[in-house]
Parts: sequence; structure tokens; C-alpha cells
Amino acid sequence: METQTQKPQTNNRHLVLYPYPLQGLINPMLQLANILHSKGFSITIIHTHFNSPTKSKHPHITFLPISDGLSKTEASTEDIISLVTLLNTNCVAPFRDCLAGLLADGPIACLITDALFHFSQSVADGFGLPRIVLRTSSIFSFMVFATLPAIHEKYFSKQDFQLESPVPEAPPLQVKDLPTITTKDSNDLYKFITNMVTQTKASSGLIWYTFSELEESALSQSRKLFPIPNFPIGPFHKSFPASSSSLLIQDKSSISWLDTQKPKSVLYVSFGSIAEMGVKEFNEMAWGLANSMQPFLWVVRPGLVRGSEWLEALPSGYAEKIGDRGCIVKWAPQQEVLAHFAVGGFWTHNGWNSTLESICEGVPMICSPCFGDQLVNAKYVSDVWGIGLRFEKGVERGEMERRIRRVMVEREGEEMRERILCLKEKVDVCLKEGGSSYQHLEELSSYILSF
Ligand code: UDP
Repeated sequence: METQTQKPQTNNRHLVLYPYPLQGLINPMLQLANILHSKGFSITIIHTHFNSPTKSKHPHITFLPISDGLSKTEASTEDIISLVTLLNTNCVAPFRDCLAGLLADGPIACLITDALFHFSQSVADGFGLPRIVLRTSSIFSFMVFATLPAIHEKYFSKQDFQLESPVPEAPPLQVKDLPTITTKDSNDLYKFITNMVTQTKASSGLIWYTFSELEESALSQSRKLFPIPNFPIGPFHKSFPASSSSLLIQDKSSISWLDTQKPKSVLYVSFGSIAEMGVKEFNEMAWGLANSMQPFLWVVRPGLVRGSEWLEALPSGYAEKIGDRGCIVKWAPQQEVLAHFAVGGFWTHNGWNSTLESICEGVPMICSPCFGDQLVNAKYVSDVWGIGLRFEKGVERGEMERRIRRVMVEREGEEMRERILCLKEKVDVCLKEGGSSYQHLEELSSYILSF
């Protein structure tokens, strides 16, 4: 893939991209925008006011804001299903008007919109425009999501459901791995999934933020469920770092702190941009980290601890107890952190970006999935690929301390590192000329030019 510094040859074709406004979904869409720009396309990004991207970092892209109609209380990630339901209703007219304005200025080759914005398919149809979907999750987790409306009730409506029971409809998952999302009405969740799947089937193509070697069998499943061209062209961030689309300021002091640490000694801890936890869980984590005696870099995002501004919930005397062994920041340059020589493990919530970024740098994981696709990703990381150790919910400080040491200093962690380094090598190959993602990107580019 070409890099941002190379001046692309333009092909006079205009693409309109529409990211879903959450950090983990903005990053891949912005990276894709840059990749397609490097292929010669001119790019316009339509975006909501809520979580709008920083335009100044992408001077070669045109940004057009549209109204999302969210009130102050609605513009929140507390109930992500309510949010997605509202956005799919509120954005219809502003998105349509914005597109009409763009079309009045000249032709558009196609729309590329996030799968979560399922409403955009009928808008595209209304203008006779092809729509390609970007799905930023793993393929296997999307396959599980697609079956969810049919199987969720079966497993969760029973009073006595067993978390360890297998789910024959979605092997190798157990009931505890099924995606759960807390929302005020579970029917909204099922309706949303059904719409997302139906409108993806109705689209002209599907871009996956993954690479085919990692998910071969899920990819063939996807090709059956979505008999449209599937393009697994990830990971993107090797070409365009997420720093350029970060909604929060990345604290670079974490890198100078890492510079002072021994190779592979630091456990990096981050639960992404949406996950929350209670004070008790936060305290157990704090002690688990302190007692493990491993150096750690901990991202405590404001809002991570329910009811706290930032670090108020830390036990008193904690900073003195950990001394120089711990560094706590609000937000880190994660990809740079994972690539740093001092980082030896990643305690993650297994958002798909974080999981893929860890694989790209060969860093074994400790998995604490919180909700949704994270549970499925964690299952693959721990039980299928053997590159991480899963923490069950409610695990206490003593057990945390032991498990951190298992990953960071024991033979078990070494074996995980060997396995994840094999995957890292596959990533490196798939992005090079002739590699699978490189090839699929070429095909995507020709496909768009054929419209
Ligand atoms: N990230 C970051 N700094 C941090 C924590 C996360 O830049 O301190 C980035 C990370 O590199 C990833 C994204 O935020 O690209 C998080 O996406 P993910 O899918 O892992 O989780 P989500 O935030 O969607 O739950």
C-alpha cells in the first residue's frame, strides 16, 4: 500500500464516505478514506456533529457535517442501541439533502457507509447510487451477530441458563461468549441487527477490516450470507495511524516513560473508548496490577469508572505504592505503545481495533471483554488462536496478579508470544504487494472504477 507521503495520481472519481460516530468505527473509516485517496479517488466525508472528526489532520479530504438531531442527553454512548436507533432515524433527511447537494455539483462513483448506518442503503437506492458497506468488526463476530435475533432468547430467556454450555448454532462459542448489549428494550437490538444484515445484503459490496488468513472459514461463511463482493483489506492502520483520527488527545508522555523500561516488561492496559466499570472492579484491577510487580501503563479514560471524573476511585496511597512502576494516562497513542520495545502484554477489552493492533505488533493479550463483539473476539484470542488469557467477570485481585504473571513472565506467555508472532508475520505479508489484503484492495479499487 502507498503511504500518505506519496502524491497520488487522481482518477477523477468521487467517493462519499459516512463513518459511524464512535472512536472504534471512525478510525478504520478515516484510514480507509486515506487509503482510497492514495489510490487516486477524491474523498468527501459526511459526518454527524456528534463525535465529529478533526478535519485539520486530513487537508486532502472534504468534510461535510450534517445534523444528527441528538439532544445533549441523547448524545451519549451509555445505551449504544438507543443511539444507533436514533441516528438511523434522525440522519435520513439531512444525509439525503447533503447527497443531493453533492450530486448537483457532479457525479459520485459510490457511497461507502458504515454497516451500522443501515438507513443509507435506501437513500443510496433513491439516487441510484451503489453503496459499499464497511464493517469494522471481525467477520466471525458479525456472523454471530447475524444469528443473534434467532438464538438470543433461546439461551438467555431460561432462568437456569449455563454459561459454560456450548452454542451449536455458533461454534466454538459457549453461552458466556454470546454478544450481550444492555439496552432498554431488547427488541430494538434485534430490529437493529435485522436491518443491518438486510441492508448489507442489499448493498453492492462489503469491506472487512481484517485479513483473510486470520478468518478464512468466517470469510467463506460471509460470502454465503452476503453473496456480494467481499473485500477483506485490513488492517488499515499500518498505512495510516489512528492518531490522525483520535477524538481524544493522546498523551505522548507515555512513550517517554516506556523508553525508560526494560524490553517486553510492561503490561499495557486499556479498555477502549466506550467500556465502563464500577468502583469495585476498578479497585481490584488497581491492586491486581500493583501486586503483580510488573511495570504497567494504564489508560484510565475519563468516564471509565462510573461516577468518577478520573482517578478519585483509586485507593489512597496508591501512587506511593506503585512509584515509578506504573504510569497512568487519560488516553495513549495506542499503536505506538503496542509497537514499543518495552511492551510485553496488553490487558484489553478486545474491541476489534485493539485486538487487531495487538496482533499486528505481536503482543499477547489478557482479555477482559465487556460487551458485544468483544466477547466473541476474546473467545478467538484465548481459545482459537491461543494468543491470550481470558479473565472471567468478577475475578479478584489475587487471581489477577497470578494471571498477569502467567502472561508476562511465565512459559505460557512465551508460547502465546510465539503464536501471535506467527500471525504478525502473516499480517506483514498480506499487506505487501501480492499479499491478500493488497490484492483485495486492488480489486476493490477496480470494482469502484467499474461503476
Ligand atoms: N485508542 C487510542 N488510545 C487509547 C486507547 C485506544 O488511540 O488510549 C484507540 C485504539 O488504538 C483503537 C481505538 O482507540 O484504534 C479503540 O477501538 P476498539 O475497537 O479497540 O475499542 P472501542 O473503543 O470501539 O471499544
